[in-house]
Amino acid sequence: MPSCPECGMKMVRQASYRTAWERLLRVLCIYPFRCQLCAHRFLASFAGPRVDAQRDYERLLVWYPASFSSTVLTTGGQIQNAEGTIVNLSIRGCQMKTDLPLQPGDMLCLTFTPTDQAGTPPVVIEQAVVRSSNGTTNGIEFISLDEAGEVRIRQIISDRLHSWMRPAG
Ligand SMILES: [Zn+2]
Repeated sequence: MPSCPECGMKMVRQASYRTAWERLLRVLCIYPFRCQLCAHRFLASFAGPRVDAQRDYERLLVWYPASFSSTVLTTGGQIQNAEGTIVNLSIRGCQMKTDLPLQPGDMLCLTFTPTDQAGTPPVVIEQAVVRSSNGTTNGIEFISLDEAGEVRIRQIISDRLHSWMRPAG
């Protein structure tokens, strides 16, 4: 895999095409990539196969306890300190299970505890929006989080991707 020209890390993933021009570059083995740590998107030549990238970000399977409050609900009303579970995580969003009915467009303030990062405080996402809802699982995009939160999520992803890349045995 190529390295990210922005941060120099090799934690990149093939990204979805944006333009017909990008598709044409396939014949030259030039593909779009997305850095998993800094979100930079770039084109690079790559000798390996093109993977069908449905999404630009690797989603880590996790099981993190979360709590959330609504900032704006499309149905009106309010949610205060409700409980949920983060089941996967990228630098740009997550999926959260909760018994509360959420709707696309609902805005949340979300806090979760990375239980595999011992002794670290919860990560706070000041503003997140529900993009999809499938019964009890909700696709959530992070709109704003403070710098500390972003650093924490990058650390979690970097730790996990490193352990995947380590050769087995
Ligand atoms: Zn990068």
